[in-house]
Amino acid sequence: MYSNLTESFNNWIMQAHHLTVLQMVDHIGAQIMDIKSRRRIKSATWQTFLCPRVHKRLEEMNEERRGMRVRPSDGIRFDVLGRELSYVVNLEDRTCLCEKWQVLKLPCVHACAVLVSINESLHTWCDPFYTTEMYRRTYGVNIFPIPTIRNAKTSVE
Ligand SMILES: [Zn+2]
Repeated sequence: MYSNLTESFNNWIMQAHHLTVLQMVDHIGAQIMDIKSRRRIKSATWQTFLCPRVHKRLEEMNEERRGMRVRPSDGIRFDVLGRELSYVVNLEDRTCLCEKWQVLKLPCVHACAVLVSINESLHTWCDPFYTTEMYRRTYGVNIFPIPTIRNAKTSVE
């Protein structure tokens, strides 16, 4: 629906637009190597189970869920009463009527209210994609530099 991703990618490779195809591939490879290296170094100091931004977001939702009333139905489905509306949370399907849990794969504030009410850890209900371990694994695989060889003689002997 939107071209934001394409525009972002075009801006990212703008410096390589004037290069030949091989030079462009080298340039983009170097950019990816740089990004992976920076993210690997950054994540080495993280001490939270979830990536810091997600950890903070989950803490905010945990605060926001205070004051909500949770009414269990069958142990799987729960009715969560917010300030004005009520939401149905289904733990088995990991869904909520607000649809944020389905979209983000991170418990919404209503799901947080349910999980806290039954003494469940919020972390275990987040998609593994958000864990520090998964982030480190994603950026842990190196792209090694490829040297540029100039004035190479190509002779067949
Ligand atoms: Zn919700």
